[in-house]
Amino acid sequence: MKIARVSVWQKTLPLIHPYWLSGGRLKFESLDSTIMRLDTDEGLSGWGEGCPWGHTYLPAFGGGIRAAMDLLAPLLIGQDPRQIDGLNRVMDAALPGHPYAKAPLDIALWDLAAQAADVPLFVMLGGAQGRSTPVNSSISTGTPEEMVDLILSARAEGYRTHSAKIGGSNPALDVARIEAIEAVLQNDEQVTYDVNRAWTPSQAVEVMNAVSARSWFEQPCETLDQCSHVRGLTGQPIMLDECLHSFQDHLEAWKLGACEGVKVKPNRLGGLSKARQVRDFGVSVGWRMHIEDVGGTVIADTAALHLAFSTPEEHRLASWLCHAHLTDDPAPGQGARNKDGVVVLPRTPGLGVVPDEDWLGPPATVYDRALS
Ligand code: MG
Repeated sequence: MKIARVSVWQKTLPLIHPYWLSGGRLKFESLDSTIMRLDTDEGLSGWGEGCPWGHTYLPAFGGGIRAAMDLLAPLLIGQDPRQIDGLNRVMDAALPGHPYAKAPLDIALWDLAAQAADVPLFVMLGGAQGRSTPVNSSISTGTPEEMVDLILSARAEGYRTHSAKIGGSNPALDVARIEAIEAVLQNDEQVTYDVNRAWTPSQAVEVMNAVSARSWFEQPCETLDQCSHVRGLTGQPIMLDECLHSFQDHLEAWKLGACEGVKVKPNRLGGLSKARQVRDFGVSVGWRMHIEDVGGTVIADTAALHLAFSTPEEHRLASWLCHAHLTDDPAPGQGARNKDGVVVLPRTPGLGVVPDEDWLGPPATVYDRALS
C-alpha cells in the first residue's frame, strides 16, 4: 500500500463563547484548523487535524502547518503509510522541530495503519483499558461567582472533573476563585486549577500555600525550572503542560521531580507517535495524565481519545473535548462524544471519523508528487 495523495483544507472554527485564560491575558474567539486526508493506491483514506489554540498559547500557528506541508507532504507520497516510525524519522530529518506541523500527518498515518489492520485505532496504541474514558469540563477565567456558575452548568451536563482557568497578577483574586469553587464541589468532583504559566514563582507559592485545595495545579509558571522551584515549596500535586514539547523535556521534568502528572497532547508533541512515547514513559514513572489535544474538531479530539483509552486507568485522568466549544461540526455523531461525562469510542476500524465533504469544501492544496 502506498500513499498517492495528500489533500489539505484550512478551516476557521468559531468558538461558541469567547474564551479567556492565563488570568485574562489571552483571549480566543476562533481557531485556525488544518485538516488533511491521505489517500492510498488501495482506496483507503486516513484523516488528521492540526489546530493550535490560536497563536499565543504555544509556539505554533495554523499558517505554519500549511507552509510546512510543501516540505513534508511530498516526502510521504509513494511511501507505505504503515511505516510510521520510519516516516517520522524522515520528516524529523527534513524538518527538525516544528512538532505541531507534523502532528496531523502522523495522526492520518495511524488512521490508515489501523484501517489496514481492520482494528480501531486504540487497539494499535495498546488496546482498550476499561470501558470508557471520563471527560472534563473547561472553565474560563472570570470572577469567583462567574466561575462557580460555569462549574454548576458543567455539573448539570454530566462533568465530574473540571479544568478551571485561573492565574493573573492578583493573588488575592485567585485565592478567592479557588475558595469559591472548592466550597461548592461535591465529594466525587475534582478540579485542576490551570494557571497557564501566568504566575511568577513567588505568586505561585503565595496562592498555593494560602488555600487548602485538594486537587491539582497546572503549569503555574512559565518555565520547567520555575515550576520545579514551586514544587519544592508547596504541597499540592503539579501537572505540567505548555513547557513540555519533546521527550527530552519530559525526561528533564522527571529528573527534577517537577511534577506528579502531565498533559499529553498529540498536536503539541508531534502526533500520536511521539505522544505515545510520552504516555508510555509517564506510565513507567508513575505519572497521572490528562490525554487530550490542543484544539480542533472531533477529528483531533478522537485521535487523542484513542490514546487516552489505551492508557491504564490508574494513570489517566479525564480528557477534554475541544469540539464541544465550537459552532461547527464536520462529522455529526461520529467519533469521541461526551455522553453523561464519559466517551465510549466507536469500534469501527481506524480513527472512526470521516468529515463531511460539503462542510470541507474544496481543498486548499493537493500534493500528489514525490520530491524529485
Ligand atoms: Mg493547560
